[in-house]
Amino acid sequence: MAVGSIRRAGNGLTVTTRPPGQPWAQIPSCNKQDVELAVGAAQRCFTDGAWSRFRASERGRLLRRMGDVLVSHSVMLADIETTDNGKRTCDIEPGLRTWLADSFYYYAGLADKVEGSVIPVDVPDMLNYTRSEPFGVCACITAWNSPLLIAIWKIAPALAAGNTVVLKPSEYASASTLALMGVLEEADLPPGLINVVTGLGAETGEHLVADSRVKLVSFTGGLFGGRRVAELAAQQVKPVILELGGKSPQIVFDDADLDVAVHGVMSGIFPPAGQSCVAGSRLLVQRSIHNHFVDRLCTATAKARIGDPKDPLTQIGPISNRAHFDRVLGDIESAKAEGAHCILGGEALHPEGLGGWFIGPTVFTQVEPSMRIARNEVFGPVLAVIPFDDEDQAVRIANDSDYGLAAGIWTRDTARAIRLSDRIAVGTVYINNYFNATTQSPVGGYKQSGYGRENGLAGMKAFLQTKSIWLATAPYQPNPFT
Ligand code: NAD
Repeated sequence: MAVGSIRRAGNGLTVTTRPPGQPWAQIPSCNKQDVELAVGAAQRCFTDGAWSRFRASERGRLLRRMGDVLVSHSVMLADIETTDNGKRTCDIEPGLRTWLADSFYYYAGLADKVEGSVIPVDVPDMLNYTRSEPFGVCACITAWNSPLLIAIWKIAPALAAGNTVVLKPSEYASASTLALMGVLEEADLPPGLINVVTGLGAETGEHLVADSRVKLVSFTGGLFGGRRVAELAAQQVKPVILELGGKSPQIVFDDADLDVAVHGVMSGIFPPAGQSCVAGSRLLVQRSIHNHFVDRLCTATAKARIGDPKDPLTQIGPISNRAHFDRVLGDIESAKAEGAHCILGGEALHPEGLGGWFIGPTVFTQVEPSMRIARNEVFGPVLAVIPFDDEDQAVRIANDSDYGLAAGIWTRDTARAIRLSDRIAVGTVYINNYFNATTQSPVGGYKQSGYGRENGLAGMKAFLQTKSIWLATAPYQPNPFT
C-alpha cells in the first residue's frame, strides 16, 4: 500500500498479529500483484513523479518535516509498537523523539552535501568528474524486534540520497510501521515516495526482492532470511545491505570496575529479553574473578522486575511472539542437554495478571565455546558464561564465532582495551559501556553479521552509486587500434 492510498491486499488475505497474550490486529498479506503496484508507484515517483523534480535542499526540508511529525506522535507510535511486539515503551518512546527524529534531521542536513570530485586522470585534454547518484527504488525489509528504529535507519538515508522506498515490515510486528506511514503523511510526502507492503517474508518479501525494478535491497533480520535475500538479489546482480544477527561477547577483566561491569553486562542483554541484535549474549570473564562476578551478576539479575512492557518500572519485558518463545525455550533445553549448567532462570514465567510469553533471565556456566549455546544466536534472555585466563585467550574465544556484530570490553587498562578492540573482528566495540548508538556513528557487522553500514556518512553512501564522466576538452583524436 502506498502512503496516501491505503488499499487491501489483492487476495484479501490477512496475517493476524498477536501481541503478548491476544490477537489484536489483522495485517494484509500482500501478493505479487500488490508488490508490483507498490514498486510501480515507487518507480513512477522516482522517474517522472514529483520526487524526480525535488532539488537536494527540498529533500532536506521534507526530511526535517518528517522528523518533526515523528516527535509529535512519539507517544502514540511507541504505544502501538509495545502492543504489537512487547518491547518496553520506555525503550521506544524517548528514542523516537530524540535520536530517531535526529536520523531525519541528520540526513536532512546531508541531502544537499553530496559532492562529486574532479579526478586528475592520466589522459591529456580530458575533464573527468564523478557524480553520486541514487539507485532508484530501494526495498527496505525490517525485523520485528525494533520495527520503527530499523525502518527509520533505512528510510532517512535512502530518501536523502534521492531514492524512493518500498518498506516491508515483519509479519510478526507490522502495526507500528503502518502507523508511522500515517504519521509521515502529515509531512506532505509526494505520492509513491514511501510504500509499505505487509505479509510473509517467503512470499511478500521474496516478490519484492525479485522485482527487477527494485535496484537495491536493505535487509535487517536473521541469517537464514538474509542468505535467501542475498541469493535472490544475486540473480539480478542487485546490491544488498545485510544487517544480521550476532553472538556478541562481553569481556570482563579482573581490573574492571565490577559495579559498572555487572550492570553493563545485565543491561546489555536482559531489558529487551535478549531480543536485540547487539545483545551481549556471551560473557567472557577472567578466571580469577569468575565466581565472584557471576554471583554478583545473578544476585542483581534475580531482583529484576519482569512484567508489563508498558509499565515504566518494568526492567525485563516479554518475548515478542509465541513461535519465538518456543524457540528460545528449545535453545535453553538444548543447552542443558549439552551439559551447560543453568544457574539462573531457564524457564517460562507467568507474571500475575498478564498474558504473554515471559522467560526468566537465564545464565549458563560451564559453557564450552563449541556448544550451540555459545555459537548460535538465541535472541532471548540467555547469557552463556565462559572463563578465560589472559588477553590472548579472550581474543581467541571472542573471535571464535561465525558472527561479528559487537563486543564489550570492561577494564581499567585503556591500552589493553584499545589493543583488544583492534584484534576483535566485530563491527562495533564498546569499551566500558554497551548498547550505545546514534545517527552519526556507523553500525554493521563483520563476518556473518552482515555487510554494508547504517547510520553516519557510511549509511548515506550505501544508498548512492558513483558515476564517472569523461569530457574531452580538446578535439578528440580516436585511436583506431583501441
Ligand atoms: P527474519 O530474517 O525472520 O525476518 C526479517 C524480515 O525479513 C521480515 O520482514 C521477514 O518477513 C523478512 N524475510 C524473511 N525471509 C525472507 C525472504 N526469504 N525474502 C524476503 N524477506 C524475508 O528475522 P526476524 O526474526 O524478524 O528478526 C530477528 C533477527 O534480526 C535476529 O537475528 C536479529 O539479530 C536480527 N536483527 C539485526 C539487526 C542489525 O541491525 N544487525 C537489528 C535487528 C534485528
